[in-house]
Amino acid sequence: MRHFAVVGSGPAGFYTAEALEKAYGDKARIDILDRYPVPYGLIRFGVAPDHQSLKAVSKRYDKVAESAGVDFIGNVNVGGDVSVAELLDLYDAVILATGAPHDRKLGIPGEDLPGVVGSAEFVGWYNGHPDFADLDPPLDGTHAAVIGNGNVALDCARILSKTRHEFEGSDIVAHALDALDNSAIRTITILGRRGPHQIAMTPKELGELGHLEAAVPIVEPSDFPPVEADEPLEPGLRKSVTLLRGFAEIDANKPKRMIFDFFAKPLAIEGDGKAEKIVVERTELDDKGAARGTGETYEVPATLIVTAIGYSSSPIPDVPFEGGKFVNEAGRISDRLYSVGWARRGPTGTIGTNRPDGYEVADQIAATMPLGSGGNRQGAEGLKRLLEERRIMPTDYDDWRKIEETETANARPGSPREKFVRVQHWMDALGR
Ligand SMILES: Cc1cc2nc3c(=O)[nH]c(=O)nc-3n(C[C@H](O)[C@H](O)[C@H](O)COP(=O)(O)OP(=O)(O)OC[C@H]3O[C@@H](n4cnc5c(N)ncnc54)[C@H](O)[C@@H]3O)c2cc1C
Repeated sequence: MRHFAVVGSGPAGFYTAEALEKAYGDKARIDILDRYPVPYGLIRFGVAPDHQSLKAVSKRYDKVAESAGVDFIGNVNVGGDVSVAELLDLYDAVILATGAPHDRKLGIPGEDLPGVVGSAEFVGWYNGHPDFADLDPPLDGTHAAVIGNGNVALDCARILSKTRHEFEGSDIVAHALDALDNSAIRTITILGRRGPHQIAMTPKELGELGHLEAAVPIVEPSDFPPVEADEPLEPGLRKSVTLLRGFAEIDANKPKRMIFDFFAKPLAIEGDGKAEKIVVERTELDDKGAARGTGETYEVPATLIVTAIGYSSSPIPDVPFEGGKFVNEAGRISDRLYSVGWARRGPTGTIGTNRPDGYEVADQIAATMPLGSGGNRQGAEGLKRLLEERRIMPTDYDDWRKIEETETANARPGSPREKFVRVQHWMDALGR
């Protein structure tokens, strides 16, 4: 019997477990470890609460977790509670699927002022991530800004602009729903260093902005090149740019405004003990399509500033790490040690982009460890003994089901669940 440890229960971890299960059938046991007692990574803590159809991908992962050869072992922090070297002793191969949970920094003065939050923190706050339950972002000012021109920036801006009514059917956590309902924010400026042709926003996410109850998206037509210039764009981007152009035609008579400020490079965040404004330099594109400062500066008022400019992975002791991800070649880090998903590639692509990663690594493992060969390691049995010695209380898939049932039972009307937002509350739900 082969034993495999997949570290991380987000999409990449689940696709890898699925692929290993397909490759080895009943000749392998696959344990999916996670530092939290509950599975799914960014499907639970990242994907927007008002995008429930996307979160439903977890149903597919449930099938993997329920299959005979796969177990979930939650509440285990790899690199802390147990080392990678220990896992390599216990398992035939270890696959790191730990994602990229940390916000990249802007690297400008003032970014540590109160009122400036990273998107991982802000998204975690409204999605019930236990590390960010106490974030309490300042929503008492009238102006907010989101820095970044990708879908995460759009998620943050949309969530800031929605009414309580528009959150019906979502699983936004109660503390965020109440705080947003009382928010004074009326203007949200979305800053991007480059122009409409350089956005990383997709049509579905942009399209939603045209139908918000209380907010209207605003663009400056002079930021756009002539419409003929859209022709050579890749079809998805062309559609996005067409949607953006269309925002110029929308009736602006709504209480909240979402302003797209293109060619805008933040230089500093300023304020008296807390964020009050962003000093911005106007940019233009150089020959290579990079943003070049023009020297013209102006100020964008904002007492809440969300930075959404990308993520980096967490290093794990003794695993080579560079540029925000594990050093790997086609997923292989070293002998019997692999990485997949955002920990392997960095924070790009959709949920589905992680699938080929998992399958590619499972193929590599199957090529070096053919079916029926070797395999006398202890796997979960040894791991659980080690955890017991260290007084770590792991959770399993049945535990997650119990937590899920309680969260479903606690849901407000029309919502799929009311998430627990503290690790201890998960453990309480299990009677531990
Ligand atoms: C805000 C946001 C919104 C998004 N929205 C969409 C969307 O609408 N549609 C879409 O297609 N994609 C979306 N994505 C992208 C999608 O979420 C990612 O592609 C995907 O989650 C990456 O999968 P992953 O498994 O590599 O990482 P993750 O999903 O981050 O999973 C990593 C897992 O590893 C665990 N872990 C980390 N470190 C350790 C450790 N040391 N020990 C044990 N466990 C550990 C974590 O707890 C986590 O469960 C979004 C991303 C973000 C950030």
